[in-house]
Amino acid sequence: MNISAQTRFLSLASALAALLFAQTAADAREARYPETGDGRVAQRLVTASEYMVSSANPYASEAGMRILARGGNAADAAVAVQMVLNLVEPESSGIGGGAFALHWDNANRKLASYDGRETAPMAADGKLFEQQGEPMNWWEALAGGRAVGVPGVVALLEKIHKQHGRLPWAELFEDAIRLAEEGFEVSPKLARSIANGTNPALGRYDAAWNYFFPDGRPLAGHSIKKNPQLAMTFRRIALLGAKGFYKGQIALDIVAAVRAAGDNPGLLTIEDMVGYEAKERPPVCADYKAHRVCGMGPPTSGGMTVIQMLKLLEGRELARFPPLSVEAAHLFTQAGRLAYADRAKYMADADFVTVPVEGLIDAGYLGQRAALIGERDMGAAPAGTPPDADRNWKAASSPEQPGTTHFSIVDGEGNGFSMTSSIEMAFGSTLMVHGFLLNNQLTDFSFAETREGELVANRVQPGKRPRSSMSPFMVFDGDGRLRMLIGSPGGSRIINYVAKTMLGVLEWKLDIQSAISLPHYVNRNGTTDLEQHTAAVDLQPGLEALGHKVSVRDLNSGLHGIVITDEGLQGGADPRRVGQVLGK
Ligand code: GLU
Repeated sequence: MNISAQTRFLSLASALAALLFAQTAADAREARYPETGDGRVAQRLVTASEYMVSSANPYASEAGMRILARGGNAADAAVAVQMVLNLVEPESSGIGGGAFALHWDNANRKLASYDGRETAPMAADGKLFEQQGEPMNWWEALAGGRAVGVPGVVALLEKIHKQHGRLPWAELFEDAIRLAEEGFEVSPKLARSIANGTNPALGRYDAAWNYFFPDGRPLAGHSIKKNPQLAMTFRRIALLGAKGFYKGQIALDIVAAVRAAGDNPGLLTIEDMVGYEAKERPPVCADYKAHRVCGMGPPTSGGMTVIQMLKLLEGRELARFPPLSVEAAHLFTQAGRLAYADRAKYMADADFVTVPVEGLIDAGYLGQRAALIGERDMGAAPAGTPPDADRNWKAASSPEQPGTTHFSIVDGEGNGFSMTSSIEMAFGSTLMVHGFLLNNQLTDFSFAETREGELVANRVQPGKRPRSSMSPFMVFDGDGRLRMLIGSPGGSRIINYVAKTMLGVLEWKLDIQSAISLPHYVNRNGTTDLEQHTAAVDLQPGLEALGHKVSVRDLNSGLHGIVITDEGLQGGADPRRVGQVLGK
C-alpha cells in the first residue's frame, strides 16, 4: 500500500464535505446533469421519429446517437454505449462485468437473447463462500478476488456485433477512447457514490484508490477526469476483438489481481479467462392480454419472475384502480410474494440444474397460484409446484446489491436492443485492472451449498453462472411488432421495478416517462417496501390495515425505456439516476 490505512480512513470521513463543496461549485456545467432539489433529475418524455437511445448517462446516449447517425444499427450503437458507460459510470457496469441482452431484428422479425453472465472459476465449489463450515459475511466476501467471476461483457458484445452489427467493430470504440483520453465530466451520481462510501471497500486496493481518490480526496462531481489506462485497453480490444481481452496481458493481469488480493484472494485462472463463452439462449415469452412479453431466461430469474408477476395479475383488471392506490399496491405485492417464492426455490443456471422454465410460466399453473391472492396480505408465500418441476430444491436467497445499469436502443430500421449490464455491487470487487473495475458477481450465488441437508439450486459449482435478477424486456403487439423496451438495475428489486413499469404502460396507459417516474412499491416475499419521499408513502396506513409489514426506504431503480407507438418513438429515463433519452 502506498498510503496508510489511517490516511485512507480520514479521507473517506472528509468525503462528504468535499462532495458538498463540489456541488456548490458545479454551476457552469449544470446542464449535463440537471439535478432537482431532492436529488432527482428532471426528466420529461422525449419523442422522435427515426431512432432513439435511453441510457443512464448523457455521454453514453450521445455516443449511441453518433453511431446511429452514421448509419450504424442498434447492435453497433450498443457497443459504443456500453464502452462509454464503462468510463463515465464505472460504479455500475463495464468490461470487468457481465450482462444480458435482447436483440430484435426487425427485417427478419427475429428476437434473440444473449447471456454474457460472469462464470465461476473451474476451481470453485459449493464451499467458496464458507468459512469454518459457516456462510461468510456478505460484506467480507464482496471485496477482493473471491467473488470475481470471468467477465462476460466483451464476449457478449462481440458475439452480438458479429451476428447483427454493420459498422466496423473498431469504430464503435472511438467515443469511449476520445473521452477517456481527453477527459469527461464526473457525474454527481459517481461523485456521490464514492464520497458516501456506497461500497465500503472502495480504496482498499491501490489501483482503485489512486483512480477514485486523486490526491487522497474522493473524485469531485463536475470535475474533469481522464482514464488513459482504459483508453489503452479499449484500443487493444478495438484492434484485436474479444481475444484482446480474454487472452494476453489484460487477461493475465486480471488473473493476477484476483489471486493476489491479499485479504480475500480468488481462484480465477487464465484457463477460465480463455474458456469464457457468451451464449445465445432462447428468450422466455408469454402472452399478456393482447401483447406478447419477452425476457431473458436462466441464469437470470428476471424473465420468468416478471412474467409470473404479470400473469398472476392478468385477471385482476388492475386498471380499475389508480396506480397509486392501496388496491393496486396490495395486488401487486401479493403477486410479488408468490413469484419470488418460486424464484428462490427453482431458479438458477439451467446448464447445471433443471429449471422448470415452461412450468413456471404455464398459464394453468399461474391461474392456480393467482387464486391464493386474497383481501389481506398473505404473509410469506410458499413456493408452488410447477408442472415440470422434477426436483425438490431448497430455497435460498442471495442478496444482490445495486451496481448495474440498463439501456434501450431503437435504430432507424426498427431494430431494438435492451441490455442490463452489471458489476454487481457499486464498484464491484473494488479491484481495478487496466482502468476498469472487476465484478463481485459470484456473491449472487447462494453462500450455503445445502439447507436442511438438501442441495440449493443456486449453489456455487465450477463453471456455473450465478442466478441474476436482471430483466431486460421487450413487448410486442398482436401483430408481432416491437412496442416497448425496458429494464432496470436494483438488485433483486429489479423484477418489481420492471413489472410495475410494464403495467404502467400496458394497464394504466401511462406514457413511458410517467410509468418510469411512478413512485415504487415492492415486495420480494418479505416486507412491503414503499419509496421514501414520494406519494407511495401515503399508502402505508391502508396497506397496514390489510396486514402488510411496511418499510419506507430508498428504492433506487434506473429504468431506461422506449415505447414505439404508431406515431413514433417515446423514451423515458429514470429521474432517480442521471440518464438521458436522445432521439431523432
Ligand atoms: N447482481 C445483480 C443481478 O445480477 C444485479 C445488481 C443490481 O441490480 O445492481 O441480478
